[in-house]
Amino acid sequence: VGDRADFDSETETVCPFCGVGCKLSLKVKDGEVRYVQGLNGPANENRLCVKGRFGYDYIHHGHRLTKPLIRRADAPEKGLNVDPLNWQTHFREADWDEAMAFAAGGLAKLRQAHGGRAVAGFGSAKCTNEEAYLFQKLIRQAFRHNNVDHCTRLCHASSVAALIENVGSGAVTATFNEIENADVAIVIGANPVENHPVAATFFKQFTKRGGKLIVMDPRGVGLRRHASHMLQFRPGADVSMLNAIMHVIVEEGLYDEQYIQAYTENWEAEKEHLKGFSPEAMAEICGIEPEVLRDVARTFAGAKAAMIFWGMGVSQHIHGTDNSRCLISLALMCGQVGRPGTGLHPLRGQNNVQGASDAGLIPMFLPDYRPVENTTYRDHVIGIWGDQEGWAEDWSDKRGLTVTEIIDQVYERNIKGMYIQGENPAMSDPDLDHARAALARLEHLVVQDIFLTETANYADVILPASALYEKNGTVSNTNRQVQRVRPALPPPGEAREDWRVTVELAQRLGLNWTYTDVSQVYDEMAATMPSLDNITWDRLKTQTVTYPSLSPEDPGQAVVFGDGFPRAGGRAKFTPAAVLPPDEVPDAEFPMIMTTGRQLEHWHTGSMTRRSKVLDGVEPEANASLHPKTLRRLGVEPGELIRLTTRRGSITIMARADRAVAEDMVFVPFAYVEAAANILTNPAVDPYGKIPEFKFSAVRVEPLHPA
Ligand code: SF4
Repeated sequence: VGDRADFDSETETVCPFCGVGCKLSLKVKDGEVRYVQGLNGPANENRLCVKGRFGYDYIHHGHRLTKPLIRRADAPEKGLNVDPLNWQTHFREADWDEAMAFAAGGLAKLRQAHGGRAVAGFGSAKCTNEEAYLFQKLIRQAFRHNNVDHCTRLCHASSVAALIENVGSGAVTATFNEIENADVAIVIGANPVENHPVAATFFKQFTKRGGKLIVMDPRGVGLRRHASHMLQFRPGADVSMLNAIMHVIVEEGLYDEQYIQAYTENWEAEKEHLKGFSPEAMAEICGIEPEVLRDVARTFAGAKAAMIFWGMGVSQHIHGTDNSRCLISLALMCGQVGRPGTGLHPLRGQNNVQGASDAGLIPMFLPDYRPVENTTYRDHVIGIWGDQEGWAEDWSDKRGLTVTEIIDQVYERNIKGMYIQGENPAMSDPDLDHARAALARLEHLVVQDIFLTETANYADVILPASALYEKNGTVSNTNRQVQRVRPALPPPGEAREDWRVTVELAQRLGLNWTYTDVSQVYDEMAATMPSLDNITWDRLKTQTVTYPSLSPEDPGQAVVFGDGFPRAGGRAKFTPAAVLPPDEVPDAEFPMIMTTGRQLEHWHTGSMTRRSKVLDGVEPEANASLHPKTLRRLGVEPGELIRLTTRRGSITIMARADRAVAEDMVFVPFAYVEAAANILTNPAVDPYGKIPEFKFSAVRVEPLHPA
């Protein structure tokens, strides 16, 4: 790495991968990013992980889309069959005018023939707040319903459902950096060492200065080396385990009576419910000794300040909302919300899943989680958006369909057209054979992306878009911190910034949109979102601001709800959680448990990280992790191929030995198209958050070597 003079430009922006939102500087030479340096952002304090540091080169990959593509009239049948370098048999290049006319014309034709409900949209948590805002506005205004969603449905929708229900807000109550003021922390169903690596460094520091870290996970995740307590509980037993811990707190009178009386409701019902969950009764179900459960209860309840962090191991279950309800109840009964070093923190996955959800890219809420059926909020939005096209009268006041519900309706041919921006449901949805068959049935699919993704294989028209390092706008991280992103480079070839494409599509669909600068979008979005009060575009030019910000000078509130909750009466609520078993349990045919997730080097469906030389070089091959004893029992050596089969399908994948995985489990990352984990996953969903049960499928594992 040379000195500054060696680079043509340096640009301050934010990492495009996980929800930590590390601030960084991109050094550009001869039109290419050559070096990435961590900056002193509020979340990362100069740190970066391997993805942020070395994963930048995907933006220069030869697979980048540089011109709009239209499906050829003589293209083969739609399927997962397009070579990203030899796409000419399926698509032909088009200029923007023709592509946009084709994209908008196809959607308008479906609207005309079948009504707006024939079209739905998936926006993206990888795009900016402004792009998410415009995307949901387009679907709501142009098609007059709320069938718009994004990948929050696949990650923390159940956490958000429980948080809104019980504390009145879907975001974290404290930044993860607050752990420096805590003396006890629980990390449950999360693997921050791989999925939020920079946040994990703060957790490790916390233990170095004496903080007690309680790690709970069916896998022995990396933080176990730093934990005071490691509870490797049985998959799916979260509610039993957490209720048992709370039972002890009640039984031994360790709860914070004063806090409960001052700030909560429904305590008596919770207390009554917990009577049936003694550690002795729950020990076998959750696989944790009663004394360990008691010790954890005493440790957490005895903390001066304690935080709870959780990830998708909590949320991706049909009882994901119940899991989060338990965590909220645990914090509330011990008075561990609203003070420095206390709080509830679902670690958000994608770089802007927090911001995209805040901006209304979800079917049940307008911007700022305001219910779509509420007349006051609808009128507020209509007042800002205007009703020039007479759309508002027809705009449905019913909650829209979620990701998996939309895919089901596509499969049934009730939804005939889609606009998909930066999402990859042909890799990310559960039961992929079903999802891919649905996508193939669409009469008109508009895909806007930077690569010819698996989903773009099914497109009728592909609009080349921009990577985060080519964008201007804002993103919001897991900490509620709103940060500016800035373009280090223009998009390649004829590719365009996503918000500009959405604006033109809206105009061609007849909407009177006049934005010429992304700051205009921010200003309008902020007018619909009280959470952004005092956070102006001008402030964000020089500062990161944590929402809520109480004045134009306030850098924002790292900890919220010190004096009550944004619920009727100002009180948080205890919602007792009953035990709901996983949707399918192991049996003679499918005797093991499969769980899915991410790896340090690969992010989500792999469209970016598998096109990064360093990241793909370190982790180039699809792999499934099993305990060495399980491999021995199967007669499989690490590195050999195995077949995994569930009720949905089969994949062939390389076996890897990992003592952290329980003996009856197999862990499969979902980034690899050649062995796509989601072919196997169960589409059953949580009834509240509508999130699929990615973390629990009954599976059969077979060796593939010759007998
Ligand atoms: Fe990027 Fe997350 Fe790594 Fe930070 S921790 S560099 S945001 S992937």
